[in-house]
Amino acid sequence: MSHKLFAQAQKILAAEKNIFPSEQKFSKHKLKEVLSIALAYPNRYYTGMSNLGFQTVYRLFNVQTATECQRVFLPDPADIEEYYRTNTPLFSLETQKPVRDFDVLAFSISYENDYLHLLQMMELAKIPVLRKDRRETDPLVMAGGATVLLNPEPLADFVDFFFIGEIEPIVAALTEILRRGKEKELPRWEILRELAELAGVYVPQFYEVTYSAEGLLTSFCPQDKVPAKIKRVYLGNLDSYPTLSAIITPQTELAEMLLTELSRGCSRRCRFCACSSVYHPHRLRDGPELKKVLLQQGEGVLKIGLLGAAISDYPHLLYLGRELLSSQKSLSFSSLRVDSLNQELADLLRDSGQKTVTIAPEAGSERLRRIINKGFNEQKILEAVDLLAERGVANLRLYFMIGLPWEEKADVQEIVELTKKI
Ligand code: SF4
Repeated sequence: MSHKLFAQAQKILAAEKNIFPSEQKFSKHKLKEVLSIALAYPNRYYTGMSNLGFQTVYRLFNVQTATECQRVFLPDPADIEEYYRTNTPLFSLETQKPVRDFDVLAFSISYENDYLHLLQMMELAKIPVLRKDRRETDPLVMAGGATVLLNPEPLADFVDFFFIGEIEPIVAALTEILRRGKEKELPRWEILRELAELAGVYVPQFYEVTYSAEGLLTSFCPQDKVPAKIKRVYLGNLDSYPTLSAIITPQTELAEMLLTELSRGCSRRCRFCACSSVYHPHRLRDGPELKKVLLQQGEGVLKIGLLGAAISDYPHLLYLGRELLSSQKSLSFSSLRVDSLNQELADLLRDSGQKTVTIAPEAGSERLRRIINKGFNEQKILEAVDLLAERGVANLRLYFMIGLPWEEKADVQEIVELTKKI
């Protein structure tokens, strides 16, 4: 066991501000009557704590009946060495309880690049990496998040069950099945069989999946009478659940910031982006309602991070931004579409003290932007840049992609030309 690692965890906790649930008591022990979930982010603390999806799931699990959820992250490289050197099993942040002592290890995965970290974390936790090797005493390994929603199959050998979709509508039913299974000491197989009936849950061991020599999926056959298709679950009314940071910390990219979601999905349908389809339909939060929640829960927090896909399309953005500014909050905005940036919005960015604004031309050439259905031309980009520069925005962050289908060398060269013009 490493005292150094335990002391580091305590130091991180001491710097955090708990927004919600402020009353949750965490236990270092295995309690028979409480379902314990280790919520894992397969990257470092610094990255994970700026992920609003991860923070939202943490909130949701912690308000379920007789359920407690603690966080676990991929340790920093030097700490990984310390884990191995001292033979310390990976532990949770809140109580430094070994992850293998939890009932469930739930991964929240946003990026494919983190897949290998998932395996590394299980190895550090001393949990068998392959699901077929797990014993009755091991936690059930669950995974959800944006990449799982796109395609869970690459992780099917490592994960006991996936959640496909947005977890809010079924989190109560999901934790209830897990809690009852624990209470009755049901075997893993029985708990998983019951979970397989729940909308949005995919349990790979109950499906036979075949692939062609080229790696394409050729068949997907349910076994043991489980549902033939797994239905994506989504939240009909966003206002029924707040999507807000649970914990604020200085040790993350979006430091000391209460993050909130303005909308989910996107109506723009750019061809390279999954947002319009996997988070369909495009849904918006009510502006006055969101303001109320932010002012209530953001008491004592100075900075609010407004997140969403294409937030400049959010119809209450000006109202909400002005209201928050007049309540002495400062604001941070995720990336904006140049074709919905107007004078009022640019004024709001200036008044919020925004020094860096992110815009996403995505491709350098008009031709490629048309192919990917980006929907605006170079003139629009330059007009938006003028609007921002006139208001003293000193830095622009530009998103471009290289490697798009039908791309030619000239398209890449045009990224350079466009950047020079900007
Ligand atoms: S506007 Fe942004 S979020 Fe919407 S589809 Fe296009 S790239 Fe995706």
